[in-house]
Amino acid sequence: MLLHYIAVLCLIGNFLCGAAPQRDNTGPGPTRNKLLLISFDGFRWDYDQDVDTPNLDKMARDGVKAEYVTPPFLTITSPAHFTLLSGRYIENHGVIHNMWFNTTTQEKKQYYMTQFVDSYWDNGSLPIWITAQRQGLKAGSLHFPGTAATYKGETVGVRQVEPRFYDYSNETDWKLNINKVIGEWFHQQDLDFVSLYFGEPDLTGHKYGPDSPERRKMVQQVDRTVGYIRDKIQDYGLTDKLNIIITADHGMSTVLQDGLVEEIILSKIPGFSFKDIKFHLVDYGPAGMLLPKEGMLEKVYKALKGSHPHLHVYKKEEMPARLHYSNHPRLLPIILFADPGYVINGFFPVQFHKGEHGFDNQVMDMKPFFRVVGPDFQKNLVFRSFETVHVYPLMCHLLGINPEINDGHLDNTKDMLVPKKNNNEINAQLQAIVGLSAVTGFLVLVFIVTTSYVWCKRSRAERR
Ligand SMILES: [Zn+2]
Repeated sequence: MLLHYIAVLCLIGNFLCGAAPQRDNTGPGPTRNKLLLISFDGFRWDYDQDVDTPNLDKMARDGVKAEYVTPPFLTITSPAHFTLLSGRYIENHGVIHNMWFNTTTQEKKQYYMTQFVDSYWDNGSLPIWITAQRQGLKAGSLHFPGTAATYKGETVGVRQVEPRFYDYSNETDWKLNINKVIGEWFHQQDLDFVSLYFGEPDLTGHKYGPDSPERRKMVQQVDRTVGYIRDKIQDYGLTDKLNIIITADHGMSTVLQDGLVEEIILSKIPGFSFKDIKFHLVDYGPAGMLLPKEGMLEKVYKALKGSHPHLHVYKKEEMPARLHYSNHPRLLPIILFADPGYVINGFFPVQFHKGEHGFDNQVMDMKPFFRVVGPDFQKNLVFRSFETVHVYPLMCHLLGINPEINDGHLDNTKDMLVPKKNNNEINAQLQAIVGLSAVTGFLVLVFIVTTSYVWCKRSRAERR
């Protein structure tokens, strides 16, 4: 009788051990959390240091705050955002500028209209939305650069593109957009990944400069918005199921005003003439590109090289390798960029911003902030800086999807994640629990059987 019980117990134990679920904590599965990627355009890494930012501070305590991150060069909006979405340096993804241009027809399209030129974005690198969708996830994007385009015949499944003349600074609109993303897209439609873009504090930083009271006020608006986002996530019960990454595309630096500095005006440089240029992209902050006419490359290059102490002039193949802004056919033969404080003017000064970006990505003013919070992240951790190409593999890891070829690596961010037990550890723990239960059960049964036997024997004896 007793042996029979033991055999049954062993069988149950073995069955339970064999049936222990093989959980894959790195791949897609029921344990995967949702992910929200937020960009506040032009939010420099140190913008929280001269303003009260209670919500950003709380987020840092609840999650991870990087000291700063390094954006790709060219440090401007569309190229840097597409690096976040693809994990590729700009020379590899090919979205080389905010502007689309055609060097033959001289046609140029500004930031907004470039959003709708599919071929400009769909240039060999897939944004994470498409990769996630191909692997069975549901993705959305609101106002994020690249949202409007079609990639290899696919678009992001749920999207909202801003109208032509949009007020990127309106806090009421920001709240409506957040309600849509959290309440409708994540909660009702059960999306797995959403990218969400805000056009500030970039615009205010350009207009008033990064050291202005207006910029500080806008940072407070961003801070309120971060609080609002986290409240909404809480309201919809998503706090434990949703990871949030908040970052930006670049920083902002003060432009030195005329009179204080010798401005860079190409037409005034001795030996340089726009007559030798077939196509130019200048008057766009501190960086520019030139396509000289046939046979004029050396002449143009020699005239410009060393012509101004704060102007850097390179043939594209000579660009410093660390900038990863050399090896793409869309880049023009001569690339120019200025030191912080300076912008590059063509015929005469036409740029009057007090703040600019587009400088070398080693310049501290160009570094964005980076914050994360959510179930997969550590708490109250200040993290070393890293390049924003590494955000993409982190996002793919969080979503449990296989990344496309990219220039980033998870090694640079994985220490901000909560360590996950691997399968062997989990199975060993499960087996230990099952084993312990079996032994306890066995002892209980032995007790019951022994007690019953003694009780039966006693009753029989009493009946006699
Ligand atoms: Zn930007």
